Amino acid sequence: MSVDYLRVSITNRCNLRCVYCHPLSNCGFKEHRDILSFDEIHRIVRIFTRCGIRKVRLTGGEPLLRKNIVQLVRELSVIDGIKELSITTNGIFLEPLAEELKAAGLQRVNISVDSIERGSYKRITGFDLLPGVTKGIYKAIEAGLTPVRINSVIIKGLNDSEEQILALAGMSVHLPVAVRFIEYCPTSKYTKPASDYLPNKEVRAIIEDKYGPLSSVVMAHSNGPALYFKVRDSAGAIGFISSRSSTFCFSCSRLRLTSDGKLMPCLYSAHTYDLKRLILNGASDRQIRELLNRIISEKSNYTKLNSFKEEFSMCKVGG
Ligand code: SAM
Repeated sequence: MSVDYLRVSITNRCNLRCVYCHPLSNCGFKEHRDILSFDEIHRIVRIFTRCGIRKVRLTGGEPLLRKNIVQLVRELSVIDGIKELSITTNGIFLEPLAEELKAAGLQRVNISVDSIERGSYKRITGFDLLPGVTKGIYKAIEAGLTPVRINSVIIKGLNDSEEQILALAGMSVHLPVAVRFIEYCPTSKYTKPASDYLPNKEVRAIIEDKYGPLSSVVMAHSNGPALYFKVRDSAGAIGFISSRSSTFCFSCSRLRLTSDGKLMPCLYSAHTYDLKRLILNGASDRQIRELLNRIISEKSNYTKLNSFKEEFSMCKVGG
């Protein structure tokens, strides 16, 4: 599998406290000087394109919290070799930014929405901000940041009722969005226990009970682990990312860069490469490129089955 996809966390700050991600208010937020500057991000992405990276996704923390995000998008979107530039966001600041981001060269957006029931959204995220997120979804569609994808993590006892799952799936019937159910991955003693995860086969059964058998579809720009389906005559699609109940390491084409500049060959890898330190120590583009080529050639050595990291924080890694 060729490695052509880089996820860049541009901040580990977040304006939500999702129970499955980082429920405590302090998850070791970094000072500005410790995170990658725009120049460093630009340089790393540019060098990466020389090593085969074609798709870049900005994430966080919450990427729309990063000051001058539109400028960063504008600078990254014109790098030769980048074919796809996208963002994963909680959508809170999307409504005012969607058009500017699109004009700056952003192509697509994934929006995290774990419930479209206001009380439940607040219980999961800690904040009563669903109405603004909903406006952000409509604005993203209108601005052409498409196909818009909605990411939902289902947690037992919080948003696993038939009613809530069907309400999320129902968005794909009426709106041109792909609603993706992501299996919860336990990451630390502060997040929900592993037993609170609901396998996607149970989510699918609830949806098929109401809508009948889902038919498989191929989605444009879909190259990751999601499998896509459609409810008959629906405007959008339903995706399943079954990261707990299945293993897709051997088709993994992605690398992750944390906001403080550590490159992770695998989500579960305890071993990271400190690119920020390399840059601060004066490494040349050629030296960085050689390291990246080595990491890429060794990537298949890292899998969920042999990479052990005891605890990690998704808000640092970027999901
Ligand atoms: N703040 C942005 C957002 O909310 O989309 C980007 C960062 S967030 C860490 C990226 C993605 O990771 C979100 O879709 C979130 O649902 C997912 N995520 C976070 N913690 C997770 C966990 N423990 N298991 C599965 N997915 C998780």
